[in-house]
Amino acid sequence: MMQFIETRGNDGTHPEKVTFSQAILSPIASYGGLYVPETLPELGREFLEKHLSSSYKTMAKDLLSRFEIDIEADVIDEALSLYDMFDEPANPVPVVKVKEDLYVSELYHGPTRAFKDMALQPFGVVLSSIAQSRNENYLILAATSGDTGPAALETFKNRPNVKVACLYPDGGTSDVQRLQMVTEDAPNLKVIGIKGSFDDAQGALKRLLGSKAFKAALKEKHTSLSAANSVNFGRIIFQIIYHLHSYLELVRQNAISMGEKVYLDVPSGNFGNALGGYYAMKMGLPVEKIIIASNENNVLTRLINTGAYDLRGAEVISTTSPAMDILKSSNVERVLYDLFGEDRTKTLMEQLDTEHHYELCSMELEKLREFFAADFATGEEGKQFIKIAMENGYLMDPHTATCFKAYETCATGDYKTIAYSTAEWTKFSPTIANALTGEVDTHDVDALASISNTAGVSIPSMIKSLFEKPIAQKTVIEKEQIESEILSFI
Ligand SMILES: *Cc1c(COP(=O)(O)O)cnc(C)c1O
Repeated sequence: MMQFIETRGNDGTHPEKVTFSQAILSPIASYGGLYVPETLPELGREFLEKHLSSSYKTMAKDLLSRFEIDIEADVIDEALSLYDMFDEPANPVPVVKVKEDLYVSELYHGPTRAFKDMALQPFGVVLSSIAQSRNENYLILAATSGDTGPAALETFKNRPNVKVACLYPDGGTSDVQRLQMVTEDAPNLKVIGIKGSFDDAQGALKRLLGSKAFKAALKEKHTSLSAANSVNFGRIIFQIIYHLHSYLELVRQNAISMGEKVYLDVPSGNFGNALGGYYAMKMGLPVEKIIIASNENNVLTRLINTGAYDLRGAEVISTTSPAMDILKSSNVERVLYDLFGEDRTKTLMEQLDTEHHYELCSMELEKLREFFAADFATGEEGKQFIKIAMENGYLMDPHTATCFKAYETCATGDYKTIAYSTAEWTKFSPTIANALTGEVDTHDVDALASISNTAGVSIPSMIKSLFEKPIAQKTVIEKEQIESEILSFI
């Protein structure tokens, strides 16, 4: 059985090793660290050869079995069956050629049209089944700037032993994102608009997660607290799969031969997607480098190019790729642990907490750069890339656009690049319409119609129908009322 160990070492009050289920239920380890697998399974070429003509689910099942996690096979089957809800059940992640050596792996063909579905859909099944088998009830708290919320609601809807309270900044998401949340109608879901920013929602969530009084009040209602954020290894494990899949797709399309190296080019925020690629590389996927694409919140660009993680005086900038508007990129810690060990990771992370910066030494930086390269795109650059891609027949969203910039500057070797597309155009339509025609739309409906017209694509039915569905979730409150609102829901 695979055990999970801690990135910052053990403090004597946490178990030194936990199972996968335990790491899912209580994702925060000693000293505020994270759980990582004790070892990674070695896959190598044999695994890739074996699955050259497998379906996504068959390959995924074999991969998960190599991790030897404490989850029953029928639960894994049910979790993976959620990929049947994607546009093409046989191939939930299409990989599209856009240039001679640039391929886009589209991670957004799930029910909420963003890449969060790749991990949250199966994760919902796994978490609910663990809760049921332990006969426990969980409250999942989520704070969202727009993509995590809809995906979490969709996956936990009507699932036994789990309730979800989802906080979003009222007025701070796109219309489509808001409608995806407030039209969700199920007795175990509560969506709460906050009069404030995403940081206010996130701040409230962090306070509640750390509040003994809140936990005690929940306990009276026989409920424990959990979070579905991307530090949860239960999400990361499903994010390793599509990197292997995308590589196999390139082999299947005769773009590369088996064993040939590629670049993985990842639009990054909390680094979950990139970490999945890193683990895949460590497990034997032939990868030259993982290219980390950012927006103006470019702390990762600086880390990988200079070795300094510096948040002094930094404030989150609101950009046109809001899912990447993050300064504390949580999953970087797992890479630090893997490369430099627990003592160094603890030192660095504590320094980041207390002094708001850390600096790698030159040998450490060199090591990091064996695996990663990085660049960022401004919003204006992103729009240029969206426009040019459309002129060449490819429609993409502003998050994906950051990868196109990083491809230009970082993919300098003679390798094919797999760039990841993390959202469908429908989720960020005003920015895309503006990039394509210069128009400024206040409402998504106008932008959707314009893009549909300009690009000759139709609006997917699940997006169109959002505008006709009744609003089921009407709560919009001051941030001081969050706790009492959640408790009355429970
Ligand atoms: C969440 C998200 C990202 C960032 O992914 P991380 O795994 O947090 O790095 C990028 N693009 C979109 C559209 C997202 O929803």
